Amino acid sequence: QKPVPSAARNDDHLYLAEQRVLEGAPPLSANWQLLENNAQLAQQGMLMLSATLVFALYHSEEIDTLAQQIHSLRRQRGNGLKIVVREMRASLRYSDERLLLACGANLIVPHVAPLSRFLTMLEGIQGQRFSRHVPADIDVLLSGLRPLQLKGYLRPEAFTTAVRSLMGNTLLPEDGKGVMVALRPAPGLRAEQAMTLCQLRRFGDVMTVAQGRLLLFLSTCRINDLDTALRHILRLPVEEAFSNRVVWYQDVDINSEIKRMAQGVATPAARQETPIAAKTAEKNADAAPPARRQPVAITLPAAQEKQA
Ligand code: C2E
Ligand code: C2E
Repeated sequence: QKPVPSAARNDDHLYLAEQRVLEGAPPLSANWQLLENNAQLAQQGMLMLSATLVFALYHSEEIDTLAQQIHSLRRQRGNGLKIVVREMRASLRYSDERLLLACGANLIVPHVAPLSRFLTMLEGIQGQRFSRHVPADIDVLLSGLRPLQLKGYLRPEAFTTAVRSLMGNTLLPEDGKGVMVALRPAPGLRAEQAMTLCQLRRFGDVMTVAQGRLLLFLSTCRINDLDTALRHILRLPVEEAFSNRVVWYQDVDINSEIKRMAQGVATPAARQETPIAAKTAEKNADAAPPARRQPVAITLPAAQEKQA
């Protein structure tokens, strides 16, 4: 039998990359090989065992194909490959990054990292072996890591059922499933009216009304991003429409609140409502008043709303 050439046996030092990840720079050394697109890179990668493969990601529509390519490489070529995705423009949600990592990527380089930082990050993963388990069936990951196929208003029972099922999803990390927030409307505004100020556009973002408060569950939102998310969702600054809020972001707390809701028990006093940004409201008083939207009375849908 012919001996396998040493380069094929040890490809650890090789870098195969989608050409655009170097932003027009030539290959950095003889060890670098630039491929025209991600498909060619995936194909070449199938011949490698421990090389570094760098995919480029421009659009969120490319995520599913990339997830498939990474999954096949990892499952078929083993844990020696160093699989990297360079985000070329803002296109990855936290949930997308999770999916790519679960499919077998070692590293995702955010679009804000400049070329030099990206190259340092590549250096950082040399010598590493991938150590997480990747399920053989990618559909398990695709369905388990996708957001709930629900958004918008749900009746309280449907809301608690939806949140409970999400909390029971073992593919999602502990304390990383989303944020739940209860908003008490400003005096004179009913929770049902306040709801018309909310526009939930992402699948997995659901709301209901309970005990005079508006309850939102924002899937895969992290606590530090809650204010950003609320700014996207509300048509008025949060401090204009709501006076107090309570936030839950750890599994154990979300689960107990959902249980209490299902039993019709009020949130305990220990979970005190915090006044919303009094300082911001005061500051706004000096500025020109923003155009006010008038709350509109609405009729709640009779059945669970499931938007396509
Ligand atoms: P979608 O998930 O139903 O989101 C609908 C709209 O909600 C988005 O419309 C955008 O206006 C708003 N939105 C949701 N999340 C965010 C956010 O984190 N930041 C900002 N600035 N806006 C947000 P858009 O942008 O026209 O996107 C339409 C659809 O395209 C989205 O529907 C989603 O399926 C997809 N999409 C767009 N950009 C991204 C992205 O960066 N990552 C992912 N995973 N999907 C995206
Ligand atoms: P960003 O718009 O500054 O949002 C930062 C984070 O706030 C998001 O991180 C997410 O955790 C949370 N967030 C913002 N809006 C919503 C929302 O409507 N629902 C929920 N559940 N969470 C929300 P994430 O998901 O990692 O996204 C990172 C960045 O990617 C976003 O930063 C935005 O620049 C971009 N992006 C994501 N999805 C979309 C989209 O659908 N449309 C547009 N235009 N940009 C998006």
